[in-house]
Amino acid sequence: MKTSHSVLEGLAHDQGLILVGITTPNPPSGFDNYLRWLGHGFHADMFYLGREDAIRKRSQPSLLFPDCRSILCIGAAYPFPNHDPRAWNAGSGKVATYAWGRDYHDVFPEVLNNFMLSLMNELHASISYKIFSDSAPILEKSLAQQAGLGWIGKNSCLIHPAHGSTFLLAEIFTDIPLNATDPIQDEFCGSCERCIHACPTNCILPDRSLDARKCISYLTIEHRGRIPREYRSKIGNWVFGCDICQQVCPWNQRFANHEGSSIFLPYDLPEISNLAALFSISPNEFKTQFAHSPILRSRRSGILRNAAIVLGNQKSFESVKILGNVLLNESDPLIREHAAWALTQIGGQSALRMLNVARQSEIDPAVLSEIQYGLDHWDM
Ligand code: SF4
Ligand code: SF4
Repeated sequence: MKTSHSVLEGLAHDQGLILVGITTPNPPSGFDNYLRWLGHGFHADMFYLGREDAIRKRSQPSLLFPDCRSILCIGAAYPFPNHDPRAWNAGSGKVATYAWGRDYHDVFPEVLNNFMLSLMNELHASISYKIFSDSAPILEKSLAQQAGLGWIGKNSCLIHPAHGSTFLLAEIFTDIPLNATDPIQDEFCGSCERCIHACPTNCILPDRSLDARKCISYLTIEHRGRIPREYRSKIGNWVFGCDICQQVCPWNQRFANHEGSSIFLPYDLPEISNLAALFSISPNEFKTQFAHSPILRSRRSGILRNAAIVLGNQKSFESVKILGNVLLNESDPLIREHAAWALTQIGGQSALRMLNVARQSEIDPAVLSEIQYGLDHWDM
């Protein structure tokens, strides 16, 4: 079925979307790389990525929608943060920019249903379709690259020459054979390696993928348990996600147009401005406060674990009291364990006293081990 790309773009822009392209439900070009990535274990403990049925669906998108004849790949912008990623206020934490707004899982379906209504009007046709927004096993960056939404940069992000990499992807599988759009014929990273040098954990791999086991985004969002000590200081001020490899990218800094509004508005969460206050939030309050935010994914346990690490990295004596209180009174041992580490980072007589007091009453072996580690490595 014929519709010009400019008509599609017009319909997409009417819905606040910045990019649209079309590809076929054939096996995506990035599938072999994906298998290699899994084979090396770079997916960390995201075991769902390696399940057999998930791999099959990634290789054959039509398994998700048997009538699929074409796939519309959609991009929707989020803002590019223009603050210096290395400077931050003591007591607050940084949140990856995509998570400043409403949860894309909630926003995309409504907007994309409206988009499809306008497309059906335009074509005078009835279309069966299914919308996916990070909700099924899809190699979405590969499909979007095939559909012309950008090239995969060395930092593994999809980069569009006019919009940089600050956009989220969704897909609409349709039962009509729309003409595929052309991929961008080249990649424009050239000799640049800024993201590779800026990444605090050296997790960017030569094949434009990431070793998730080391990536701050994975560690602070997806990873459920203890964060290995070697990565805690590298997390810096990031309490949810990490934007560094996008912030340093010239395609975001100099060439992209980040103006205009976004479907994820309102953006009211540029930072978690009072980490100390977060520790007094109960599990139910956490669910309510972050009900419509991507931050909910980390759960209270993950966010407070991360918040303790950030306070430890900021090394402010003002945080000793709150961290000591967490160590003695918080019910979640994962959070207590990271509070013990944070006290060790801050140091001083008060922090030492807190660790010694906690050692008398603590019963969780992992927390006790962290307390002992701190005492054994105390910097007098
Ligand atoms: S998100 Fe952060 S840790 Fe992950 S690759 Fe980018 S700079 Fe490195
Ligand atoms: S920082 Fe440079 S190498 Fe990295 S993605 Fe951007 S252009 Fe490519």
